[in-house]
Amino acid sequence: MPGYELLGREELEAIKQIFNEKPVLFAHGFDNVRRAYHVRDFEKALEKQFDSKHAVCVSSGTAAIKIALKALGVKAGDEVITQGFNFIATVEAIHDIGAIPIITDVDSTLNMCPKSLKEKINKKTRAIIPVHMLGVPARLSDINKIANINDIPVIEDACEAIGAKYNGKFVGTITDIGVFSFDFGKNITTGEGGAITTSSKRLFDFARAYHDHGHMNKKGLPRGLDDALCAGFNYRMTEISGAIGKVQLEKLKSITKSHKDRYKILDNLIPQKFQTRQIPDKATPSFDTYVFHVSTTELKEKVVRLLHELEIGTKNLPDAMKWHCASYWKHMTVDRDLVALASVQKRLEKCVSIPINIRVPEEKYEQIGTEIASL
Ligand SMILES: *Cc1c(COP(=O)(O)O)cnc(C)c1O
Repeated sequence: MPGYELLGREELEAIKQIFNEKPVLFAHGFDNVRRAYHVRDFEKALEKQFDSKHAVCVSSGTAAIKIALKALGVKAGDEVITQGFNFIATVEAIHDIGAIPIITDVDSTLNMCPKSLKEKINKKTRAIIPVHMLGVPARLSDINKIANINDIPVIEDACEAIGAKYNGKFVGTITDIGVFSFDFGKNITTGEGGAITTSSKRLFDFARAYHDHGHMNKKGLPRGLDDALCAGFNYRMTEISGAIGKVQLEKLKSITKSHKDRYKILDNLIPQKFQTRQIPDKATPSFDTYVFHVSTTELKEKVVRLLHELEIGTKNLPDAMKWHCASYWKHMTVDRDLVALASVQKRLEKCVSIPINIRVPEEKYEQIGTEIASL
């Protein structure tokens, strides 16, 4: 998945550029001293790239999820539904505002199961967070339909699928709010960082203010005399990250293409032997991970051993299963979800994921695919 493989000269030049200007390492204000706004430029670039009306850059993807929940008015005691194959951050963000994370089962796409979602909705449900895990869009048509009928907003966690599309649109722009992460392991990276995208002016205004102590950043008003829209916090992105982000975003198209070329090689070989993860209709993945099912424990051990011998590893299935399977997070989940949690774990235990790296030559993926298919 990683943009980190391509971090290099261009990003370094962008940082140097800041220091050639009068360096203001702060996203907002200081209007009379600064010559540039790198975070704000990155936001504009994200809006253009993903065809989103608004984008707000923040300090992390985890912060982005929390801000999205706050913007939607989710409060302590409310329920927020997300899926059992996930990254712990999504559930932590819900937990951090005192809301209750409710976990759905996943289906053969390994993302939110719409049927399970339907069963989990009740009158306390205030938001739904489908997560496009390991580059594959969730079944957004079904999820949005269920959400609309019940009048519940949807936050797309697009952190692991930057560049993926659903029905011709980039993920992160299809529901009420999208959230992105640019941490070091994501498709594009700023080291640490995240963003929120939305077409709603109201949600945008809240996110913009909340991540910066409630500041409205009114034009012409010095920062010290600015008005506050709401009680906020500091989840700002730094200018250095903003400058790096602009450069990384320009590389996204070629990153996705390199992923896809390698993914296709595996996809020509592995299905000869194993059943692969289902990709929903209308979904175009970001192709940064290849996931397949291995039915027996014995065979799975062989596959995993082979991938370690080839020095590729298995990324999170099973290498980092504990951080990606909600059944391990009993400190944050509720007992009524135990059946769904067990079901998610059972499904994930049969899966293996192969990380796709750009610096790893295509021939290596030929070798991996061939050796796995002949196990
Ligand atoms: C990485 C990730 C996050 C959190 O992003 P950070 O920037 O590391 O805080 C949230 N959700 C998912 C699915 C992720 O993979």
